[in-house]
Amino acid sequence: MLQLLGAVVLVATMALVGRMATTEWQAVSSASYSLRLLEPLRAGLVAMEMVSRERGPTNAALGDAMPMTQVRSDALQQARLRTDRALLTLRDAVAGVAGSPGMQTELPQRVEAARVALAQARTVVDQTLTLPGARRSAERIRSAVYAMVAVVPLLAPVNTALAGGAQQAYPALGDDVQGALLAADLREYAGLLGSHFTAALVKGEPFSAAEHRAIDETSGRIAQLRFLIELRVRGSARPASVLHAWDTVEARYFGAAQTLLQSVLREGDAGGRYGLTAADFAARYVPDMNPVLELRDALLLQARESAMREHDRAVQVLLWALLGAAVLLAALGSALYVLQRRVLRPLVRATGALHALAYQGHGHESPPQPPATQDEVAAVVGAVRLLEQQTHRRHELERERDQLIEQLREQSATDYLTGLRNRRSFITAAHDRLLQAQRYGFDVAVVLLDIDWFKQLNDSHGHAAGDRALQAVAQVLRTELRETDLAARFGGEEFVVMLTHCDPEAALHFALRLREAISDLEVQGAEGQPVRMTASLGVANSRSVGLALEALLSAADQAMYSAKNAGRDQVVQS
Ligand code: GH3
Ligand code: MG
Ligand code: MG
Repeated sequence: MLQLLGAVVLVATMALVGRMATTEWQAVSSASYSLRLLEPLRAGLVAMEMVSRERGPTNAALGDAMPMTQVRSDALQQARLRTDRALLTLRDAVAGVAGSPGMQTELPQRVEAARVALAQARTVVDQTLTLPGARRSAERIRSAVYAMVAVVPLLAPVNTALAGGAQQAYPALGDDVQGALLAADLREYAGLLGSHFTAALVKGEPFSAAEHRAIDETSGRIAQLRFLIELRVRGSARPASVLHAWDTVEARYFGAAQTLLQSVLREGDAGGRYGLTAADFAARYVPDMNPVLELRDALLLQARESAMREHDRAVQVLLWALLGAAVLLAALGSALYVLQRRVLRPLVRATGALHALAYQGHGHESPPQPPATQDEVAAVVGAVRLLEQQTHRRHELERERDQLIEQLREQSATDYLTGLRNRRSFITAAHDRLLQAQRYGFDVAVVLLDIDWFKQLNDSHGHAAGDRALQAVAQVLRTELRETDLAARFGGEEFVVMLTHCDPEAALHFALRLREAISDLEVQGAEGQPVRMTASLGVANSRSVGLALEALLSAADQAMYSAKNAGRDQVVQS
């Protein structure tokens, strides 16, 4: 029963702990998975940024007349190298997570497609750059610029997939990840907006209708992004780093950069006489886009930190759950062990001992085995009950035995005919009285009484009448005696009395009273005739004889014989 109970508690505990551990383990792995996706996402956003950035030196080079200056050429080369590195980093990062839960397997191919598109765009750019400035038509420049622009949208699905995966694994990341994606988009559209200005600035011409439309569209998209980002950034309890980054974006990009764009647009509308070259424009416009990247990074960092916090929290809860389970199991185990060792086993042993005890001394060779049972407590109770029954029986037997012993003792001390003490009992008791008399100094007297002519009485009236006469004398003695006095049948028709606290005079009086009472007795003879009797009495007292029993008896005996000799039916005091 105990083991079954233990097993039930164990299973319940394990189920509870298992459920808790599973939940927390899922939280741990979700948080780690979202952390795992945040790395490639960052790489994707950086790659997107690098492709956008590469358009800066590209556009600047496109605006230069041949030959390209060394500075421009170096800047372009470096930008291309940075982009290539970012794309390779992204490809590797994406290869690590492609095919994991919720991730498409073709992510690396998408990155590869963007690389191929970038290479083709660069070829268009390089071919344009080989043409002398005069032969570079606005159309040609535009196609080179837009070939570069077309690369970024190829990366967007990769980033969206990574962000979606991270958000799905840990939904609390939503605002941060979405905010980072939007910031990256904003950076892209801001770059694109800048690109729309390049051709007109390079040529020193007003903006075409198509360019106006493109600028309006892109600005509209940027305004939309500004609103969407602000929603996520100004949400509840955003960290100071994110708020600060957003404020900087507002001041720099939506402040200074927008002012620059407005003034260039106005100059374009006023006939195309610009106060700055395409390179000057890029040098002023591009730095104001950087706060957008800082915002993106702040949001990514925030996402990363909250995923880490969730991860650590879940790990901690998991550990506590396991520790709690271990403690619980240890407690349960030791409770069962202690119960088994300290309660059940002693109970079983006690049952055996009780059985043995119950049957002890009852003639059993060996006690029967206690009945086999699954209920140890009931077994002990049964054994105790058995022991009680056996003990009760034993007590009854002991009482019977004691009664028998008492009866025997009385019988051995009592004269069967008269019910008085017998000679032996008298002597024992008389010795005690004499010892007390010695100690407390009181007087003792002994009276010996012998029925006169008793043989004749027997002979004339029958032995039965003799017996009745003896019983009648005994009754007289009993009537006349005080509680503390001793009386006994000393021999055939001879009686003895020991009187305590009794001076010689009182003893004499007592003997005289006895004599008189006996002479008044009448018993039935064999034929119903009245039979009378007398007795001779000898009295001895301790004042004249001392406290030795033999001396007292012998003195009383002599006195009694003197009474016989003096004619019987009289009292003689020694
Ligand atoms: P005395 O006056 O000298 O005492 O004469 P006695 O006949 O009384 O003396 P004795 O000692 O010669 O007789 C005692 C008799 O008592 C003898 C015996 O038969 C009788 N006797 C002794 N014990 C019993 C008894 O238990 N019942 C009866 N009926 N008689 C007994
Ligand atoms: Mg006699
Ligand atoms: Mg006699």
